Amino acid sequence: MAILPIYTYGDAVLKKVAKPIKKVDDKIQKLIDDMFETMAQANGIGLAAPQVGVSIRLMVVDVSCVKECKHIPPMVIINPQILETKGEVLMEEGCLSIPGVREEVWRPEIIKLKYRDRDFKERIEEFDGLVSRVIQHELDHLNGELFVEKLDSKTRRELKEELEAIKRGEAEAAYVLAEK
Ligand SMILES: [Zn+2]
Repeated sequence: MAILPIYTYGDAVLKKVAKPIKKVDDKIQKLIDDMFETMAQANGIGLAAPQVGVSIRLMVVDVSCVKECKHIPPMVIINPQILETKGEVLMEEGCLSIPGVREEVWRPEIIKLKYRDRDFKERIEEFDGLVSRVIQHELDHLNGELFVEKLDSKTRRELKEELEAIKRGEAEAAYVLAEK
């Protein structure tokens, strides 16, 4: 396994709509292993393939380090599609691609998700709480969107300097960042 550098705010790969996966070959199996290792090393709970520079519809999620989510096993989510949503909640988010920035974001509370797992088996499952939040955040990455784009204009103005600095490659993180 290998630690992959994480692409940050301003990098073109984070703005692209990622491509659907047709089958899980050895190359994608290896990428999944590397993404889990990269995420763990960065203390992340979700990571989308575009964040490691690969524009395909794949994410890994592992919230088991959070006390109330200990029972939830790590997940591989391929070609996700939200079928239904319920409710709306405000929750604080951060992003490994935007080091140091944390803000509260409104999103649906419960999602019904159709996706394929690591064996490319189709599944339909309902998620709520933190895991629902992480999946929605990562799904945005697959559509070339970042959570800071969901913030109101005042908050975005306040973050402008910080975001510009990340864009210039001045971000600091306790994990490996891709070079600008
Ligand atoms: Zn993110």
